[in-house]
Amino acid sequence: MLQRIPDRVDPWRLAEQEETLEGHLKLGSLPRLAPLLANADGEAAFVLTFGKDVRRRLVITLNVGAELILECQRCLEDMVLKVDSTVRLTPVRGLQEAEQLPEELDPIMLGEGEYLVIARLIEDELLLGIPSSPRHEQQNCNRQKSVKAHELPEAEPKEDNPFAILAGLQTGENDN
Ligand SMILES: [Zn+2]
Repeated sequence: MLQRIPDRVDPWRLAEQEETLEGHLKLGSLPRLAPLLANADGEAAFVLTFGKDVRRRLVITLNVGAELILECQRCLEDMVLKVDSTVRLTPVRGLQEAEQLPEELDPIMLGEGEYLVIARLIEDELLLGIPSSPRHEQQNCNRQKSVKAHELPEAEPKEDNPFAILAGLQTGENDN
């Protein structure tokens, strides 16, 4: 599953070595994510980089990419959600510490010397990328027709639409 990468790693040791880990993870092996998917056959690709920032804080940079197949909540057909997300995480021991972090860092609950479970970290990030009510883009949704009829007047301002002007001219000609 994880090619030559252990399930859990010591992030402090890897940060000393400025290590980068790269691998793939089967979506079906993630117990919280898999039940949310219409099809859990795919994989997530990840790159984890360990290092320290100028303040000597441990920083774990995670990039995770996956194509998640979800059920569109409008038409109930499969839809593909592309996730490509990068986060910079630093370990904290509590809420107070988390609140003091600069904006570019996200907290991860991890005690001193505690190991990092790679699959759990990746699963957390993928779960964050799933909207509470996933839907196709409107033009790609299989229920687009009924929805479009309702929303079209708002979507096309008349003044800027050359076809509207043309239509107006034609109406004028017809009147004569
Ligand atoms: Zn749909």
